[in-house]
Amino acid sequence: MSTPLTPIPNISKPVYKRIVIVGGGFAGLKLAQKLSHTGYQVVLLDKNNYHMFQPLLYQVATAALPPDAVSFPLRRAFHKTPNVIFRMAVVQQIKKEENLLLTNLGTLSYDYLILSQGASTNYFGNANVHKFSAPMKSTSEALYIRNKIISNYERAVNIADPEERKPIMNVVIVGGGATGVELAGSIAELRNKVLPKDYPQLSFQNMRVILIEAGPCLLAGLKEKSRDKALEYLQKLGVEVMLHTMVTDYDGFTVQLKDKPSIKTVTLLWAAGIKANTLEGITEDQKAPNGRLLVNEFNQLKGSENIFVVGDQCVLIDEKYPKGHPQVAQVAIQQASNLANNLKYELKGKPWKPFKYRDLGSMATVGKSMAVVDLPFVSFRGFFAWFVWLFVHLMAILGVRNKLEILLTWAWKYLSFDPSLRLLIRPRYVKEFKRKWMTEEPDYEI
Ligand SMILES: Cc1cc2nc3c(=O)[nH]c(=O)nc-3n(C[C@H](O)[C@H](O)[C@H](O)COP(=O)(O)OP(=O)(O)OC[C@H]3O[C@@H](n4cnc5c(N)ncnc54)[C@H](O)[C@@H]3O)c2cc1C
Repeated sequence: MSTPLTPIPNISKPVYKRIVIVGGGFAGLKLAQKLSHTGYQVVLLDKNNYHMFQPLLYQVATAALPPDAVSFPLRRAFHKTPNVIFRMAVVQQIKKEENLLLTNLGTLSYDYLILSQGASTNYFGNANVHKFSAPMKSTSEALYIRNKIISNYERAVNIADPEERKPIMNVVIVGGGATGVELAGSIAELRNKVLPKDYPQLSFQNMRVILIEAGPCLLAGLKEKSRDKALEYLQKLGVEVMLHTMVTDYDGFTVQLKDKPSIKTVTLLWAAGIKANTLEGITEDQKAPNGRLLVNEFNQLKGSENIFVVGDQCVLIDEKYPKGHPQVAQVAIQQASNLANNLKYELKGKPWKPFKYRDLGSMATVGKSMAVVDLPFVSFRGFFAWFVWLFVHLMAILGVRNKLEILLTWAWKYLSFDPSLRLLIRPRYVKEFKRKWMTEEPDYEI
């Protein structure tokens, strides 16, 4: 990726100070929204021109929701906020001494820099798993999984030998967190209720849905009763759950496991871990051993005056959270809110307030009428939990159009149990000279 060393064109000099925000995810978007209509010039940069609602990506991957329902155009959020400028740019490097960012569009100077680049998939150094498995951190990756699953059955239906068909029909998911559990439940529902109608010539008893977790339980952050119930729900749907199981290798066809027999599948979905994103110019002493950037209670990057980090990318160690806060949306949103308030206090000459996390609880859904919810003072499971899960996610999604689209799609699915999105819309070959703008940038890696 080339880095032009001229300033990004058409961004005027700020009247007062310029705040540059890198990443329009949960934290970056909240910051830019809260800093609109202030004396600052705010420049928001993201490698995509849309915000992704990651908690519902698994529904895109399993053909339950269209990709545009869980993605929101960033430019639309700033139609009436002249002090906020958006650019689709991949940020590559910080030159701290010069207060300068280097991006694929050119350079950009800042008075305050806020990093909210989130995290990317962690393969724990396993190059083969990286090469052959499918991650699910973005809308385009979720769409890839949808295409992969549907194309498997379009392929399988033309294979005469049932033994040869099995690896094409099996789906293995790695990672027993909310993403793995939700994906496994949703794929099992497709297998049980939907795919047999589309492919009556295939026997779906031959399709295995396997969820692998290295640790002793699923949904490690939830209460024991909720964890047990989620396991029970998955087993009811016919998911084979393998706890205490380590994936050691994968060649695109066989999943090798430590001390256990291997599994044949062409579809390995990797939801086993994340690692914080970073940039050139961040020094090793500014990172925790797991790569998250070290910040203080004001989200100020270690050893820096005017650089802040919020959300999944940072770690704030305090008495209550000695390993840092969980990498979830609420932490990102609350940190962004607190930092935006502090930057507004700065304009008024008021003192800054330290960040304090308010845990609102956790939840996960496994399938229709099956969910678990742990709130700070009460836990519940089953149909009511599922209803609460639906309501909370519907309220959290951005945009009235997206809310309506999701509500109607869910209502249709509930009544008919036949999501109508099993389309195989494959990307057309993009000629090399056109790729720059037509293919998504890979994660920026140092
Ligand atoms: C599949 C999935 C399901 C999840 N489910 C839940 C859930 O149910 N509940 C929950 O609380 N949390 C959930 N999470 C976690 C939650 O999504 C994250 O904690 C949250 O998104 C963190 O917000 P953030 O702003 O730090 O990062 P993100 O929301 O990830 O945003 C980062 C942004 O930075 C941009 N970016 C990255 N690098 C660059 C670069 N070099 N240049 C320009 N832009 C860049 C990205 O495009 C992205 O828009 C889920 C995550 C995933 C992946």
